[in-house]
Amino acid sequence: MDTAVFETPPSTSSRIKSEARRRPSRSEAEAAVRTLIEWAGDDPDREGLKETPERVVRAYEEFFAGYDEDPVALLATTFEETAAYDEMIVLRDIRLESHCEHHMVPILGRAHVGYLPAGRVVGFSKLARLVEVFAKRLQIQEALTSQIADTIQDLLQPRGVGVVIEAAHQCMTTRGIRKPGVSAVTSRMLGCFRDDPTTRREFLSVIGNQRNAPHET
Ligand SMILES: [Zn+2]
Repeated sequence: MDTAVFETPPSTSSRIKSEARRRPSRSEAEAAVRTLIEWAGDDPDREGLKETPERVVRAYEEFFAGYDEDPVALLATTFEETAAYDEMIVLRDIRLESHCEHHMVPILGRAHVGYLPAGRVVGFSKLARLVEVFAKRLQIQEALTSQIADTIQDLLQPRGVGVVIEAAHQCMTTRGIRKPGVSAVTSRMLGCFRDDPTTRREFLSVIGNQRNAPHET
């Protein structure tokens, strides 16, 4: 597998405020899908396609459910103050399903999230949910990686955060340059994950060991 590795630059986690703009109605969204079907060259009134606009809009509700959720609120209301645990916490192989903002096609892969707490910890399921809230939006992988790391840093104020995402982009595999098997790897390291080589190595070895382990099927 070819792998492109690039470290994401620091970025703001600010997002377009979607509540400021009028949201089209469901029937407007269905009409838009109908237009795309016609534009592709098919007949939206034929039997197999009759329910398609409705189904596509329902699917979009799932794909982009992240716009209706506030990632800050998700962590802010659930962290626990605890001085008792100060070892690295890593959640690896979080299933990642997102959509690229350039072509609106799937980005599929895995996210690995680690942090070294400084008094505040959050449940594993909340970390996985945080990944999902950002993934279920239109994304580029670099921004997605930064948003997850920056939110954990802001809310939990740990000693450091590391986020690594490995993903395949269907806009690269099914169209354009057609490079199946290529996955892009992005990372964002903050605090001691950036500055302390030992911490960074420990994190990378925890998430990397998985690849060398035999696969159970
Ligand atoms: Zn794309």
